Amino acid sequence: MAKHQFQTEVSQILHLMIHSLYSNKEIFVRELVSNSSDALDKLNMLVLTDEKYKGINFAPRIDITIDKEAKTLTISDTGIGMNETDLVENLGTIAKSGTKAFLEQLSGDQKKDSKLIGQFGVGFYASFMVADKVEVISRKAGEENAYKWSSMAGSEYEIEAAERDSHGTSIIMHLKDDESEFLETYRIENIIKKYSNHIPFPIFMDKEEWVAPAEGEEKGHNETVNKQINKANALWTISKNEISEEEYKDFYSSIAHDSSEPLVWMHNKAEGSLEYTTLFYVPSKAPMDLYRVDYQSGIKLYINRVFITDDEKELMPTYLRFLRGVIDSADLPLNVSREILQSNKVMAKIKNASVKKVLGELAKLAENDAEKYDAFYKEFGNVLKEGLYSDMGNRERILELLKLNTLNASEPVMFSEFVKGVDEEKKEIYYITAKMSLSMLKNSPALERFKAKGIDVLVLNEEIDTIVFPMVTEYNEYKFVNVTDAKLEESEEEKKEHEQKAKEMDSFVGQLQNALGENVSKVETTFDLTESAVCLKIDKEDQGYMMAQMMKQFGQMGGDFPAPKPILQINPNHELIKKLSDSADMNLIDDAAHVLLDQAKLYEGETLADTAGFIARLNRIMAKAL
Ligand code: ADP
Repeated sequence: MAKHQFQTEVSQILHLMIHSLYSNKEIFVRELVSNSSDALDKLNMLVLTDEKYKGINFAPRIDITIDKEAKTLTISDTGIGMNETDLVENLGTIAKSGTKAFLEQLSGDQKKDSKLIGQFGVGFYASFMVADKVEVISRKAGEENAYKWSSMAGSEYEIEAAERDSHGTSIIMHLKDDESEFLETYRIENIIKKYSNHIPFPIFMDKEEWVAPAEGEEKGHNETVNKQINKANALWTISKNEISEEEYKDFYSSIAHDSSEPLVWMHNKAEGSLEYTTLFYVPSKAPMDLYRVDYQSGIKLYINRVFITDDEKELMPTYLRFLRGVIDSADLPLNVSREILQSNKVMAKIKNASVKKVLGELAKLAENDAEKYDAFYKEFGNVLKEGLYSDMGNRERILELLKLNTLNASEPVMFSEFVKGVDEEKKEIYYITAKMSLSMLKNSPALERFKAKGIDVLVLNEEIDTIVFPMVTEYNEYKFVNVTDAKLEESEEEKKEHEQKAKEMDSFVGQLQNALGENVSKVETTFDLTESAVCLKIDKEDQGYMMAQMMKQFGQMGGDFPAPKPILQINPNHELIKKLSDSADMNLIDDAAHVLLDQAKLYEGETLADTAGFIARLNRIMAKAL
């Protein structure tokens, strides 16, 4: 017998299981049965594809046994099994880096926390919620020796040689005194029906049944019979109208390890040149690893009902990584490798069609159930936006799914609604984007000319917007135009008047330029402002700006290149500008030039490099006014 130490994270998780997570304990059954089902899936595939396993007798089943006297509940399977090394690696350590995220995200709220169990592969350890001692007897398919792993939680476990007739795994749970409910057949049967009815393998259990009197007998009697208690039909293979809403939800719970209800699901059977079935679910809450690079894929690939993988991120594009579900196709080779999968034409076709289907279903949802769509968008809207640059082919479709803030609306509106209001002749979609509060961005001086003319503008204030939208150039026959690049119509008269006024400002512009020197690339007159005195414009010819754009394109956001110098634009119709341009006080103009530039920077949400200088200048100006 050999003693082993649990990896620290395992001890932590075990501690949690035992001391913090009380609600919804029944899910330990779902977790263990799901492990058994995975083990059967794995062996199934090997038997079908690997010469080495051809001789193995594959009789897939899961057996649940209750021993009331010994107070044990046992879940056995005839799956792939584990050898000594597997036991150490699988039940003594946690390989997935997501576990750390799991531990970090625990809120202390037991109800919430217990929902997180399973999402990060802590499934097996859930057995310690109800058992004070757990034994695992396992024999790996194709090997002679069996081993027993046992632990009473804490910091260590033991492994010793054991006996097992054939390959597979048995988990024996010695239940805690107050968990005797899990020794009741009907209780376990109900849990199985709820969470594991549609795993593709049969689950058997001994049940007491009343038997009618036989000949010569007066009364019937109770007899113990071994019965299959789940349906064991892969849910996705059943036709839609034969599946109840409850069954869809329960199946979601079993494959997503999520106890909250899914928001929507999409079940689709394709027939024709390619035959495949997909069942996708949108969770109601974002999985907690949604924004982690090492997020776990939620899609399981089956080939003709044989499980192939649930660890292939390429099955669906990353911007749909919140989906949970199943893809099952009869048109792929069973022994498909990861490399083949990634370059396989059939897979690519299934993926493309599935993406279109999902986007289409989401569009329908937006149209038919605004409330649900809002719930969806709140959780996943920003992830969806990633598709604007990663999936050019579906850009239009993705845009139509977005709900965006606009200058004229008080609530976000569907993009397709917004487009209806865009000028039919010009076909220009104006947008402004910067990461700052919505109200601040809506007050940007760059929007004043749009306000004056009543033209609506997309106001995009999320970080992802600032990265994605500059790369979106068109939508159908519409063009995307950044507000700073927009040319709004002006009449001949206006044009003349503007030229005249700009001329009058020439010498003042020169004075400002002298005062600001290297701080700006230039100063110019603008007629785009109505309320503000000044604003900043990015100089697209500036080298710094071009560098920044290039770095963005190569996916590097930071970088040590100098920030591009802005153009300071002044509004000749503004009281302050008018008065200043008439002033002969060069000191005042010098101070005012810097204060105006700083003011414009503040509007852009920037912080001032020289706050002390700003205050000193402002104070000198105020002193003069008194
Ligand atoms: P997960 O199932 O999410 O990987 P678990 O902690 O539940 O996490 O299980 C850890 C690992 O132990 C599994 O990935 C699997 O390799 C192994 N395992 C658990 N139960 C069984 C079983 N019944 N048969 C074979 N292997 C199992």
